Formats: sequence, structure tokens, C-alpha cells
Amino acid sequence: MAASDGTTRGFGATPVEIDPPDLGPWRTGNAGIDYVWSFTAAAPGPHVMLSALMHGNEICGAIALDRMLREGVRPVRGTITFAFCNIEAYRSFSRVDPAVSRYVYEDMNRVWDPSALDGPRNSPELRRARLLRPLVDTVDYLLDIHSTTNINPAMMLTGIAKKHLDFAKTIGFPVYLVRDAGHEAGQRLRDYGRFGDPQTPAVALLVESGQHWAKATAETAREAAWRFLAVAGVLSEADAAPWLRRPRAPQRVIQVTDRVTIQSDDFRFFDTYEGFEVIDRAGTVVARDGGKHIRTPYDNCVLIMPSRRFARGQTAVRLGRFEE
Ligand SMILES: [Zn+2]
Repeated sequence: MAASDGTTRGFGATPVEIDPPDLGPWRTGNAGIDYVWSFTAAAPGPHVMLSALMHGNEICGAIALDRMLREGVRPVRGTITFAFCNIEAYRSFSRVDPAVSRYVYEDMNRVWDPSALDGPRNSPELRRARLLRPLVDTVDYLLDIHSTTNINPAMMLTGIAKKHLDFAKTIGFPVYLVRDAGHEAGQRLRDYGRFGDPQTPAVALLVESGQHWAKATAETAREAAWRFLAVAGVLSEADAAPWLRRPRAPQRVIQVTDRVTIQSDDFRFFDTYEGFEVIDRAGTVVARDGGKHIRTPYDNCVLIMPSRRFARGQTAVRLGRFEE
């Protein structure tokens, strides 16, 4: 737990309070892709997709979707798709070392740009993304369900375009809305294609539901998923009403201004940051990357999702400020 050594603090110390569900019943799918289920109502409406396990160790989304499938959630208009993404990584989930099942070969949430999808490179994650892509191309509203290594409050990552922020405000959950542009290491699903284009109405949100293994995280994921369906307008009045009536917390918007991408093989934070720390003074050193100090660029700088995996080219932390 040495404060000067960001690689050792608390890592792996969080107990696993939730169990990975058996997804065997959903293997065959009904949309021509394993572990993907689509249900279409007779009445026309939008295509809404809930996706889980983009990172194989983030089991809160799998719990939420498994439960919704077992409950027989169906649209009254349009289509609802339930997608379990990186199944191969999820299969390797182990309570002893739950962090290792994040991916098999590469981060599946960094492959969603046409140059990677259409390019010659291959990996289990790219193969799966290529399978999902034609379906994703028809989605009007996407909620990609994730969780974080650190213990921090749930947040909705809305991307830059205002359409996503507006939709997240309509959902009214969770409290923190984070506007960020993604990662240098590759494009996320939520920024892919029409989602990233402000000229199209397609909306994509990524919910970070809380710490990977906490019980409350699975409940947050479920609440986010239900509220998303309710606001997207695909549920019956009876199904939607309880979620639309849920209390709406006053939401806070954080604009991400900087992304600290690791440049060396020797990166460390100077304190045990969990995320959402507000650093009062501009110029405060928060990390060291090789010989370079990373300083906050302005007063009241918010640290968002400090990583615990330090690898060159990966995002170490985002820096932002409260907008609202
Ligand atoms: Zn994730």
C-alpha cells in the first residue's frame, strides 16, 4: 500500500461479493450470433441494445442481462437486443484472480474503428467485434454496461456529442455524467460509427456501475439497464412506470479536458487515488511518468478513473472539471 507506488496499492484486495452467472442457457442466441438475443415487437420502434461483458471480468452487466432474459423482458415497440460481448474472456473468470479475465488477447473496447474492424489484424476480440458489427450498425440506443477496478461512484460516460448527454439527463441516473473522448489506444463501442457522429440521432452511453466485485454494482447495472429501456420507449407502460417513477438525483456533469496516456515503462501515481478526487491547486504533481511529472492543469481538477494497470500507450487517468 505504499503511497508512492501506484502499482501495489490495494490491488486485488477487494472481495468478490457477486457470482458470475451461468450463461449456458443463452449460448445459442436467436439473432444468428452466440450469446446475443433480440426481441422485436409487432409495433415499429427503435432498436435498443444492452451490452455486457465488453470486459470479461465486469460481471455486473452479465448479472443484469441474465436476470432480464430470465424475467422475459420484451419490447412493446421496436427491438431490444441483449448482447454478452467478450464471452471467451468471461469463460476464464476466476474468483482467485478475477482481473485476468478482462480480455483474451486485447481490450475489446479499443477495436471499434473501421481501420481495425476492416483491417488485416486478428484476435478473439476482433473476431467477436466483427460478428457483432452488423447488428450494432442497426442500433439506435446503446447502453454498454461496465464496472471499475477502483471503488468509486457509478458514472455515465457520455462522449462528447450533446445528444448523449441529453439522453443521459433524461434517464436521470446515475449522479455523475462524464463527457470524454475515449482513448488513444483505440475506439470504444460507444464512439463507433453513427454513435460518434453528432449529425445522426443514434445514442450510445457507457455506464461504469461501480467497483467490479461489489454487490451494489450489480444492482446499479440493473437499474441503469431498466431505466435506459424505459426512457428509450420500448417498454410497456406497466413495465416502464416503476423505473420512470424512480427518484432522479441531481446530476453533475464533468467535462474531461485531458487524458494522461502513459509514455514510459515507469509510471506511478503520487497518492492512492480512487477517482473523483478534486485537486485544489493547478500545478499539483499527481503522477510521474518516467522522468516527467504529471501536473494538474487548473484549479479544482477532478481525477477520473485512475488506472491500476500501467502500460505504455494506455490511459492512466483522465482530468476534468465540473461543468454543472
Ligand atoms: Zn469496462
